[in-house]
Amino acid sequence: MRIAILSRNANLYSTRRLKEAGEARGHEVDIIDTLHCYMDITSNNPTVRYKGEALPQYDAIIPRIGASITFYGTAVVRQFEMMNTFSINESVAISRSRDKLRSLQLLSRKGIGLPRTGFAHQPDNVRDLIKNVGGAPVVIKLLEGTQGIGVVLGETQKAAESIIEAFMGLNANILVQEFIKEAGGADIRCLVVGGKVIAAMKRQAAEGEFRSNLHRGGTAEIVRLSAAERKTAVDAAKAMGLNMCGVDILRSNNGPVVMEVNSSPGLEGIETATGKDVASMVFQFLEKTTRTSTRTKGKG
Ligand code: ADP
Ligand code: GLU
Repeated sequence: MRIAILSRNANLYSTRRLKEAGEARGHEVDIIDTLHCYMDITSNNPTVRYKGEALPQYDAIIPRIGASITFYGTAVVRQFEMMNTFSINESVAISRSRDKLRSLQLLSRKGIGLPRTGFAHQPDNVRDLIKNVGGAPVVIKLLEGTQGIGVVLGETQKAAESIIEAFMGLNANILVQEFIKEAGGADIRCLVVGGKVIAAMKRQAAEGEFRSNLHRGGTAEIVRLSAAERKTAVDAAKAMGLNMCGVDILRSNNGPVVMEVNSSPGLEGIETATGKDVASMVFQFLEKTTRTSTRTKGKG
């Protein structure tokens, strides 16, 4: 197959590993810098141009779209879809996953376990917003944050109110969430590909920290999932319409709860923690899917 990885940086671990694994399986794999693609939207002949030439007809693309380029990146993915190229994650699903509010709304409609969560912009009654998710301690998140930045623990009612008011002063969209204390500063990253959990790791926050992000000093190890956790991850991926994603789960007293679903999950942490060849499994999925797919036309 001829496959393109859309990535801003060919040297990133995930990009390198995917290229390596694809080539090892006999595919032709190009790395295309998403922001350098430009599009020809002419009637009946949609193309993507790159460095002065039209790109070839790829069998599949693997979009690795960073949060900061979601708008342009998903437009490029959509253009490939117009050319009937199979994208491991559809552009609409990527856009949807980038909006935490929209994601949680979709997951809640499908009955997937979630922490009690409130959303607000300018609540007139901050106290009610906190009470509604069970009272302090609560986790307060900036809707636009990533890598644990903008995620704050409001330990007392007073602290929570002050933090929410401060965020409100910044004119930000905020999420107020029940604090899952029993998770003990750990979360589970499940990597779902093609409706199956192919690898899972437990990330443990650094001492004195509740955020388990590796960027925040967390450490990772392989973990065995319960059947309920596996099902939650698979259901979440399905609800979001993502063939490849990272589903972050907390172990709560009420069972697994989903915190977020990431449509460009990193491979380094999970391959290192589990010793699995995740990149090859991504290609196995693409091989199977493009062989059997009756591709739908006219997406968008
Ligand atoms: P980001 O998208 O910036 O990584 P998250 O919402 O995933 O933000 O939160 C970062 C980390 O904080 C999580 O990985 C988890 O360890 C911790 N965390 C987030 N929400 C909660 C919660 N409601 N209860 C307990 N811990 C939480
Ligand atoms: N960027 C990683 C991913 O989305 C997460 C790393 C972290 O936990 O900070 O897979």
